[in-house]
Amino acid sequence: MTSAIKKVGVIGAGQMGNGIAHVCAMAGYDVCLNDISAERIEAGLATINGNLARQVGSGKIKEDERQNILNRISATPDMSAIGKCDLVIESAVEDEQIKRKIFEELAPHLGDETLLATNTSSISITRLAAATDRPEKFMGIHFMNPVPIMKLIELVRGIATDEKTYTIAREFSDSLGKTVAVSEDFPAFMVNRILLPMINEAVYTLYEGVGSVEGIDTAMKLGANHPMGPLQLADFIGLDTCLSIMQVLYEGLADTKYRPCPLLVKYVEAGWLGRKTQRGFYDYRGDTPVPTR
Ligand code: NAD
Repeated sequence: MTSAIKKVGVIGAGQMGNGIAHVCAMAGYDVCLNDISAERIEAGLATINGNLARQVGSGKIKEDERQNILNRISATPDMSAIGKCDLVIESAVEDEQIKRKIFEELAPHLGDETLLATNTSSISITRLAAATDRPEKFMGIHFMNPVPIMKLIELVRGIATDEKTYTIAREFSDSLGKTVAVSEDFPAFMVNRILLPMINEAVYTLYEGVGSVEGIDTAMKLGANHPMGPLQLADFIGLDTCLSIMQVLYEGLADTKYRPCPLLVKYVEAGWLGRKTQRGFYDYRGDTPVPTR
């Protein structure tokens, strides 16, 4: 734990938000989890519970620790409770307008010293900071998916972020047992600047009929030694998030090499967003994933 932070607020209880709440509570922080509805919060808490049970099963934590970790997490759709935290990490959908609105709604509830962070995969930290009342106390703290397993945090300073905020964010990341990589504030930072064009290219490879879903994933797993194929990974990230990141790269860098594949757009328009909706490049509704093309 860091001396500056005792309580962490997490906005968004989806796949990343519930993972962030999980690792913070496991590191000893009190956590307040928020989402737009009681149902979303319940789903997030159920995922944390399931993941903790798996960690008990694999001997990573003991049963009594699981209960203590759960007890440290409170949850509410009420923004005022979130404002009382020392650090608030926004992890709602990858949509700049929604994120800006969240920071505007949060502002009247915040204590003077509360630090703000976003888990955005791609959106400008400087621009999001400008939508808050405290750009100097604002950071990008970018976790990887799944949060309890992946070791990396990308830290991104906005133009106005002060050194104290960065130092606390770094101590906080260390306290979670993560390794930090520092990125400048450019579209999609480092990991997704490299990863998402590869995924988008895999979707083009499918779109142009060069290979099937299974063919492309097998090729990259066995041919490039990737632990997951790019289409399987896209489903895991969420196709809506993948598309948003490509749009941020395309618009932010004004280069046609980042244009999102029309087939990716079509899947998102169909609501086939990957694992979280049970269908994407694979259909997850049965016992084993079945390719949808
Ligand atoms: P998700 O779709 O699983 O969850 C998003 C959650 O945000 C949903 O539960 C939704 O109800 C909630 N939400 C929407 N509007 C809200 C509001 N106004 N207030 C509070 N909650 C709101 O998405 P995710 O994969 O968890 O992504 C969340 C963020 O994390 C995005 O910014 C994304 O880019 C980033 N991220 C995602 C990954 C990944 O692999 N999926 C990795 C790193 C970072």
